[in-house]
Amino acid sequence: MRQPLIAGNWKMNKTATEGQALARAIREGLQTQTVEVVLCPPFTAIPAVHAVLQGSPIHLGAQNVHWEDAGAFTGEISPVMLKEWCRYVIIGHSERRQYFHEDDEMIHRKVLAALRHGLIPILCVGETLAQREAGETGTVVATQTRRALEGLSPEQAAGLVIAYEPVWAIGTGRAATGADAEEVIRRWVRGTLEELFGLEVAQRVRVLYGGSVTPENIAEFVCRPTIDGALVGGASLKAETFLGIIHETARVKA
Ligand code: PEP
Repeated sequence: MRQPLIAGNWKMNKTATEGQALARAIREGLQTQTVEVVLCPPFTAIPAVHAVLQGSPIHLGAQNVHWEDAGAFTGEISPVMLKEWCRYVIIGHSERRQYFHEDDEMIHRKVLAALRHGLIPILCVGETLAQREAGETGTVVATQTRRALEGLSPEQAAGLVIAYEPVWAIGTGRAATGADAEEVIRRWVRGTLEELFGLEVAQRVRVLYGGSVTPENIAEFVCRPTIDGALVGGASLKAETFLGIIHETARVKA
């Protein structure tokens, strides 16, 4: 019912030229139509990567967006600008929350702004190690989900993508276990969606796992029916590993 999705978050990596080469290699190596693929380059590489992806089923996403359409916000990029190029936008990544002090209210505004312009948010939620050790995982994930999405219509919510990304698993080589990710997603992501929008919406939203995903461990996550794919950081920077994750997902979800 939900199409599997693998999204690559390139973070602050790849020039426009490097991005084109990577996108071209991914396009040429892609051997499945069953998994939706999204590339999220840095802003400066978006137009160049867009050119390479023309006519392919691979979609583009941005890594961030401002909540206003235009104005005196030096250094920011608006949803109006992104929608010329992108279908998706990552919102609330833990690196934005941690290093750029984005809070739930800002993230909520970004989600609304993206939806207003037809961009699909990939909303990131997840607990820190300290929060996990304090037994706060459920509360943190539920609260981030609720605060980002409260006030959306069920139709708006149903089209979203949510990535559960435990902060301690991002870029550390220490992925969550599949069972852990499944439990958090079932109880606290889909559970909160059900409280806010009802069961049907909770079942329609695509939910990804993110945090040190590799071609070797992706099956552990996507073998679980509640996990629809992955948001991939480090392993999305090489065509071989990113394609490995995509093709393994297609095999497991077949
Ligand atoms: C991310 O940045 O969203 C991420 C999951 O990174 P990594 O795969 O490198 O842990």
